[in-house]
Amino acid sequence: MNSLEKCLILIILLKVLCLVESYPSNKIPCTKSDIGIKPCEASRKIILGMNRRGNPEERGPYFEGDIIRSRNKQLKKPPKLWINGIVPYEISGTFPPTNKKTLMTAIEEVNSKTCLNLIPRTNQKDFIIFKSDPSSCWSSIGRIGGPQVVNLESQCLKAVGTGIHEIFHSVGLYHEQNRIDRDDFVDIKTDNILNSKLVNFQKTAENVYNTNGVGYDYGSVMHYSPYSFSKNGKITIETKGNPNTKRIMGQRAGMSQNDIEKIKRMYNCQ
Ligand SMILES: [Zn+2]
Repeated sequence: MNSLEKCLILIILLKVLCLVESYPSNKIPCTKSDIGIKPCEASRKIILGMNRRGNPEERGPYFEGDIIRSRNKQLKKPPKLWINGIVPYEISGTFPPTNKKTLMTAIEEVNSKTCLNLIPRTNQKDFIIFKSDPSSCWSSIGRIGGPQVVNLESQCLKAVGTGIHEIFHSVGLYHEQNRIDRDDFVDIKTDNILNSKLVNFQKTAENVYNTNGVGYDYGSVMHYSPYSFSKNGKITIETKGNPNTKRIMGQRAGMSQNDIEKIKRMYNCQ
């Protein structure tokens, strides 16, 4: 084989490689996936955005992705509640108009569907400050005392449910998949979880988070998506129930009926 022939073969090989590389990655085969739906029937955004990559609050560097725990005793005690369910707030971040609209929708949803009342702050001592610092989505759990930040950077207001999720942390709700009874409902696939993130799947002690008899809810706005903290693209939270429940795990369209009920029982209100 002369050098010209070698060169031609190399070119052909490179061309084949390029063709493989440039094969449209959104050409998803129409076979049933392990998230319970046929990928060809769902948009790429739903599969890869909402499930494979998870929600933005699941990707933060904080405890369980989005919980700040430095100021509330390392989460060893039940969260402090807001007196009479009244949550004064200020908005101090610079939110783009569409994000501001989504934030206001999240606040209105909480006010209209739960017995909580988020009100613009006048002179209250304890209150929430909504900020938009480029530091992901995060909140403390429950009322801390004094001003406390709920941070929602740009990506955290793509879905109203993420805004609601962080507000719910600030009033005392924890993640659904870490409930003490979760093993009856989901399998945590530790082999697929990043080692440094295994801590995010510890159960929340019952004396810290009491769900007051409200049933486990795959569709809770506080539930993480099936691929959260995956190190290999494989599932990390597998349902033990109807496989279709995978489709709603990690949804951020809004709060579920059980979420509303949890607030109701936690705050002992209607
Ligand atoms: Zn969260």
